[in-house]
Amino acid sequence: MNLELPILAHEQSPPPFQWEQWYKSIGGRSITIPEVQHYLHAIFNEQYPAMEGIPAPVQQILPPDIAAQSIKEKALQLGADLVGICAIEPQDIYQGKQVNEHYAIALGQKMRWQPFQTVPSDEAAIECLRIYHSLGDIVLKLAEHIRALGWHCTVEHPIGDTNVLHIPIALKAGFGELGRHGSIINPRIGPLFRIGCILTSMPLALDAPINAGIAQFCDNCKACRIYCPADAIPDERNPLAGKDHLGNDRYTVDTGKCFPYFGTHHYCSACLPVCAYNHKEWAFEPNIPTELFPTIAIEPPPPPTDAVPDNEKHPYPHLRRQEPNPWEMKRAKKFIKAP
Ligand code: SF4
Ligand code: SF4
Repeated sequence: MNLELPILAHEQSPPPFQWEQWYKSIGGRSITIPEVQHYLHAIFNEQYPAMEGIPAPVQQILPPDIAAQSIKEKALQLGADLVGICAIEPQDIYQGKQVNEHYAIALGQKMRWQPFQTVPSDEAAIECLRIYHSLGDIVLKLAEHIRALGWHCTVEHPIGDTNVLHIPIALKAGFGELGRHGSIINPRIGPLFRIGCILTSMPLALDAPINAGIAQFCDNCKACRIYCPADAIPDERNPLAGKDHLGNDRYTVDTGKCFPYFGTHHYCSACLPVCAYNHKEWAFEPNIPTELFPTIAIEPPPPPTDAVPDNEKHPYPHLRRQEPNPWEMKRAKKFIKAP
């Protein structure tokens, strides 16, 4: 590995997610929750301007395993629940971007289960933003620590607008396996967490992806598929979507169906708290009374949208577009009287 050369995106890397275009395709942003606005303001006006910094003039050089251990201890001390390290490859970089560092430190922070007892809801949306802000703070402080050791680093904020794809990086760093719902499931803390990264060329020992039987579990469980209000989660793996780190075809969500629901219903997230993995041991919170299964406020989904040009979005399947939504069918059945 030549640490001097930048890494360019792979020619088949996906383009960055075009938030504004997607919102335009559903008539603009319509979710206004004061606490969410408060966190967004703090992220963009306080954290974003603090993402860059100058490293100390003298570099501390440690053996990679000791350096990795010390960075991980620091991340956990700062409040991260998950931390792992991987080498960056061209397919981890968004189309049109490049990175100058060769290692990614992935950090995860758990969202609380209690605000997800009803989804979609203001409470769940606020919890997502609370963690984007809190994890943003952890990532910034860890970056400061790395710069104090004399190493350059780039902050990839958990809220997005990044150079690298957080999910492939976190999978390589050993966070878990990719669920049918398109999010990573960690064997210890389930799927309710957010991810941020720091890129650096400080030599660090690498972690390895894990095989905890989660992908296999997903093949036999369809809880997220059944409870997705927009009917956007697939029945089958998609052979056209590439392989995951275990060599399985990936599951790919129909973004054209998910986004209109997500963008008009409190950022939805219903697929995360319904996730059945590991009988929800991850969901218990000491001293906070919670149910094992959330209440899902299901409304008829808006029509799918595919308005963003193909070269500006990543490919996704058009799932069951010709069939009526199963929730509509259930609703209709309620009112049909037997002859
Ligand atoms: S966020 Fe909501 S609409 Fe999108 S896949 Fe998850 S459950 Fe379905
Ligand atoms: S709900 Fe079931 S199928 Fe969906 S991601 Fe979780 S374990 Fe996999």
